[in-house]
Formats: sequence, C-alpha cells, structure tokens
Amino acid sequence: MNLQSLIRPHIRALKAYSSARDEYTGKVGTFLDANENALGSVADGPYNRYPDPHQRAVKTELARLRAVQPEQVFLGNGSDEAIDLLFRAFCEPGKDEVLLMPPTYGMYQVSADLNQIPARKVPLTNNFQLDLPNIQAALSPNTKLIFLCSPNNPTGNCLKAEDVKVILESAPGLVIVDEAYIDFAQRASVLSWLAEYPNLVVLQTFSKAWGMAGLRLGMAFAHPEIIAVMTRIKPPYNVNLLTQELAIKALSNHEKQQEMVAATLAERARMAESLGDLDFVAKVFPSDANFLLVKVPEPDQMYDRLIGKRIIIRNRSKVLLCEGCLRITVGTKIENDAFLTAFSALGNEIEHEKTTYT
Ligand SMILES: *Cc1c(COP(=O)(O)O)cnc(C)c1O
Repeated sequence: MNLQSLIRPHIRALKAYSSARDEYTGKVGTFLDANENALGSVADGPYNRYPDPHQRAVKTELARLRAVQPEQVFLGNGSDEAIDLLFRAFCEPGKDEVLLMPPTYGMYQVSADLNQIPARKVPLTNNFQLDLPNIQAALSPNTKLIFLCSPNNPTGNCLKAEDVKVILESAPGLVIVDEAYIDFAQRASVLSWLAEYPNLVVLQTFSKAWGMAGLRLGMAFAHPEIIAVMTRIKPPYNVNLLTQELAIKALSNHEKQQEMVAATLAERARMAESLGDLDFVAKVFPSDANFLLVKVPEPDQMYDRLIGKRIIIRNRSKVLLCEGCLRITVGTKIENDAFLTAFSALGNEIEHEKTTYT
C-alpha cells in the first residue's frame, strides 16, 4: 500500500509551521527566541517556557513500554485530536468517505461531520461483532478510514482478531483500531501487528486505565509515514508542559496502573454478578472494559430515578442494538455498592408499580 498516495494533495504539499523550539533543540542556553516571559510565571510554577512540540521524552518512555519505535508514536490532546487529524490528513470533502460500525464511540461521526466527510454505516451483528459481508459490500476505492473500536464503547466487547485482520487486508485506506479500553481486556493489543499492516492505526489513551482524563493525552501508533503527516499538521504545542511531565511520571509507575486495573476488574466481576442476580435485569453483557452494559425493562425510568438519587449513569437505550440498555462505569467499591443498592431498590419499585397499576 502506498501511504503517500492516500494523503490529501494539499496536505502532502503543506509546509509545517517551524516553531522556535524546532529550530534550536539544545537544552542549555540563553533563550531569547520564543518571546516567553523570562521572569517566570504568574501561575507559580515553571510554566513560562513552551513545551517540547515533539514530546520526545514522553515518546521515548512510551515507545519503550509498548515495544514500538518513537517514530511510530503520535501524541495528541486526547485521542479525539488524533481522530480529527486523521480526517484532516486523509479525507477530501466531496470525494472521500469513511466507514463506521454502530453502535460505537460517538466522536467518529462528529469528526466526520465536522470535516464534511460522509460516514457510511454498517451496524455490528447481534452479538456485537463485525458484519464482514456487508462491510465488504460498503467499501469503495474512496473509503479512506475505517473505524473499529475494540473493546467497543458502549457494548464492552472485543472484536474478533481474525475479523479485524480481514478488514486490514481488504481496506483501500487506513484501519483505525481504537483501543481506549485495551488495558481492561483479556485480549492482547493489536500493536504487534504494526509491522505487518502499514495501514493500521492503533489509538490508545491516558484517559481510562491511566486515570488521567483531566490531563488530555491520547496516543496513536502507526507506520512512521502516517505519524509524520499527523505531526506535520498538528498544532505545534498540542500537548502542554504539565501533561508531558505527568505522563513521564505515570509511565515510570506502570505498576500503579496495573494495580488500579486489577481492582477495577475485581469490581467489574462483582458488579456483573450482583446485577445478574437481580430478577428485573434482562441481561448483563460480557465486558472487556471498565463499564457494564445492562438491559432492563424500563431504562428511562431507571435512569431518571437514579439521577434523583444523585447517581449518574449513561442511558444508551435509544442507541442501535442497545435498546433497553444502560451503561454503568465501574467505580470504587463504595460507589458501586451505592449504585447496586439504589439500582436494586428502584428496579423492584418500578416492577412493583407495574404489577400494581396495570
Ligand atoms: C474514552 C474513549 C476515548 C478517549 O478519548 P480521549 O480524547 O483520549 O479522552 C477514545 N475512544 C473511545 C472509544 C473512548 O470510549
């Protein structure tokens, strides 16, 4: 596959902004090049200097942890920035299109709309897997991006690895595998496939297992040519100084991330079992993520009444293939107990009202 030919012509020709920190990369010197405030920062910290536009230190540590080369890593202001840049680099309005497999993460559609790129949709099968024959039928030579989410949000399951390979082999463009929840999954990441598939882009994030949603740091792993074009068109200082510092700190403490994942998995199992024991719960879907999808008879009432008790979950009951479903994030043991107690009481209350008044 010729990756260069997939890039939009004007982006291929684009000359990137060259920042002060691009032109001189040494660490020691008298820095009078970037119009910073040399006296310090009003915000009481060493924030007066611009951050490294290429996030070299973070990429070095991340590449080591994930066993890839730094040239295969893009860092963005959340994965959402990486998603948007893929559209901007590869999708020409009026010509190209992308493929989405609902029900899935809402940002793919938002980014497609924002960039005026039609999104063709091929729903997942009833067991939330890829519908290969219909995907093949929906492909066109202008299908530039195919978004796969594994583990999928909001269904919680992983896509079958062999199906993802079929898509990678038949796609005329890039295949994005969003692994925001991969650290909670039994399944291995597809990162090890990068050498084999130059059209693979793997998205991961610091927002979930790493517990850094407030810092906004997303990752894309791909062939160096894909990373190079994303880097060329990104805002120069897209990852701030504090986020870069805290990411390095986080990466040096992978054990803590693993401990939190283990605690979340234990709570997920306990919640799934408790929810499965409730008579009014129609189904608890298996989850490879840090949330559970649960089918109930009266999702809207359950959702509203939980809000009344200041317990906030996500109502997914209007989403294709998720009719009647609520999505519940796994919290702390105390939070989960509060949820389970309220959920059980409200469910029984609603069922009782139905038998009493009808
Ligand atoms: C939460 C989530 C993300 C993370 O997005 P960030 O912008 O990195 O916070 C990405 N993809 C999916 C499917 C998600 O659910």
